[in-house]
Amino acid sequence: MSNISNILSSLSFLKSLLTIPILNEGDMTSLIRGYYIIKNMCGIVGVVGNTNATDILIQGLEKLEYRGYDSAGIFVAGEASSQLVKAVGRIAELAAKTEGVEGTAGIGHTRWATHGKPTEDNAHPHRSETERFVLVHNGVIENYLEIKEEYLSGHHFKGQTDTEIAVHLIGKFVEED
Ligand code: GLU
Repeated sequence: MSNISNILSSLSFLKSLLTIPILNEGDMTSLIRGYYIIKNMCGIVGVVGNTNATDILIQGLEKLEYRGYDSAGIFVAGEASSQLVKAVGRIAELAAKTEGVEGTAGIGHTRWATHGKPTEDNAHPHRSETERFVLVHNGVIENYLEIKEEYLSGHHFKGQTDTEIAVHLIGKFVEED
């Protein structure tokens, strides 16, 4: 099996990626259960451009605030360096920490904790062991503990999320290639 197939077959979160995004604002009027999910789920923003990505990411996350979340973070990459910024609480608190954070590409996330408390360490984005890969993720990885035990002994984790397991797994398979 190729490494990519390995990764995909190991990550049962793909199921949640396929199901949760089909809910949108329109569903709120007709789907009571959907309404509950929408009010308690993450938001994801990504940008690749030629202006400063930080402002775009923060503005995007502000637009997603209505969905409900407990913490947020951004990763911004420039030509020479990259920065990871996270905060518990409102986007305004994250924004207050982003002065001087510059780059032209980035990803941002508002988190609704399912695995691990709403702390800064557990907020997304998460990085792989060598920090080559950075991941934001919506949903639940049901088999994350099995993945950790089977593939990731010796890895160093900063938090308790299922997402951090996923990005370490991706890093491991790609870098072993
Ligand atoms: N399961 C992940 C976590 O607890 C993602 C939760 C979400 O979709 O915000 O960090």
